[in-house]
Amino acid sequence: MTQALAAARRLVPRFAARAAGSDRDGTFPVDDFADLREAGLLGLMAPAHLGGLGAGFSEYAEVAYELARGNGATALVFNMHTSVTGALAGIPQALIEALGVPESFLRARDRLLAAAAQGAWYAVAMSERGVGSRLSQMSTMYSAERDGFRIKGSKAFVSGAGHADAYLVAARSAADPSLVSQFLVPAGSAGVTVEPTWDALGMRATSSHDLHLDVAVGADALLGGVEGLALLVAQLMPHWMVASYAAVYVGVAQAAIDAAVGHLTERGLGQLPAVRSRIGRADAAVAAAWLAVREAARRVDEAPGEPATNRWVWRAKLLAGSTAAEVAASMLEAAGTSATRRGHALERLYRDARCGALQPPTSDVCADWLGVAALGGDPEADGTGPRW
Ligand SMILES: Cc1cc2nc3c(=O)[nH]c(=O)nc-3n(C[C@H](O)[C@H](O)[C@H](O)COP(=O)(O)OP(=O)(O)OC[C@H]3O[C@@H](n4cnc5c(N)ncnc54)[C@H](O)[C@@H]3O)c2cc1C
Repeated sequence: MTQALAAARRLVPRFAARAAGSDRDGTFPVDDFADLREAGLLGLMAPAHLGGLGAGFSEYAEVAYELARGNGATALVFNMHTSVTGALAGIPQALIEALGVPESFLRARDRLLAAAAQGAWYAVAMSERGVGSRLSQMSTMYSAERDGFRIKGSKAFVSGAGHADAYLVAARSAADPSLVSQFLVPAGSAGVTVEPTWDALGMRATSSHDLHLDVAVGADALLGGVEGLALLVAQLMPHWMVASYAAVYVGVAQAAIDAAVGHLTERGLGQLPAVRSRIGRADAAVAAAWLAVREAARRVDEAPGEPATNRWVWRAKLLAGSTAAEVAASMLEAAGTSATRRGHALERLYRDARCGALQPPTSDVCADWLGVAALGGDPEADGTGPRW
């Protein structure tokens, strides 16, 4: 077992003990993040020479799955941070050379990863109220200004808003709106404000508030050092955009089984055939989804960006999201009305699990992508609407 996985397993009981409180109050799990920082897990994806743990995608998936068994909301915000650091650490050398990525970006990237290894963490401010996560439709715009850029716009669903050290902000160029770029904006910058709007069905502790931006950033805040890379990165590294949530939601689904088993055992109802069959089906469904996530993760580590890898990536997201919602609903039904009371672990897990299929790409979008691929088409080009 790796050091990171062992650390994650140690944290699970603590996260689980705090989960009900932060869900009830809709407050950010500040203590969980202090624990993650102390355990060095915020540097999970940073390479060892920068002080990090140098994990690959498979190790990330194992860690995220464990953390989600403790608190899905904490694991989901952690997933946003690892998506930023994992994508930064994983930019292939060939791509760096092909794009002519400037040396200044490589230095900025190493600074960001070293800071993560020291405990800094980054949130993702991509989605907008009107267009969800469709990068090509964003209304947040940037323009060149003095030695850097000015970014103006509003973001929604920013998990960890008000707590992160910096935000990965996606914006379109005012000069050429077909260019979508990403910037890492320090949270304390003048012109960055959080509007506390998150009061949602599930994942209530993620503090996924709105973020308003009218902010000047230096040239080195532009990720990749070249404008217009965001759509390319979404296609070349779909694992961070598509499948990184998958491990989180399989962990949430397993937590729902564990909670149902505990509840039913306590009540002496485990021998009921209907209950046993529900638990058995849930066990098989979660094991199958987890196998798919692990297969996708293994392929991401061995052959990132290959068509066969990407197909597993989309399968993993679809299976994890749908399985979590179905399993949690079945476990709640098996456990009965007393498990629907506020404060019962299953009541929270049922709501948290519901979010997996809704996070982009939604299960419907994943199914469409996979359907196009299975029919012999090009799933990146043949969608019914823009996926990014
Ligand atoms: C718990 C949680 C945390 C989140 N955290 C973050 C975060 O930290 N940062 C962030 O940027 N965002 C975050 N999001 C937001 C998320 O990334 C999405 O952008 C947002 O949920 C999409 O909004 P929407 O579903 O309202 O809209 P839409 O994307 O517009 O989807 C609406 C409907 O249209 C369908 N649809 C859309 N496009 C297509 C298509 N091409 N083909 C077929 N059907 C389509 C969808 O399946 C869905 O049914 C979070 C969301 C949740 C639930």
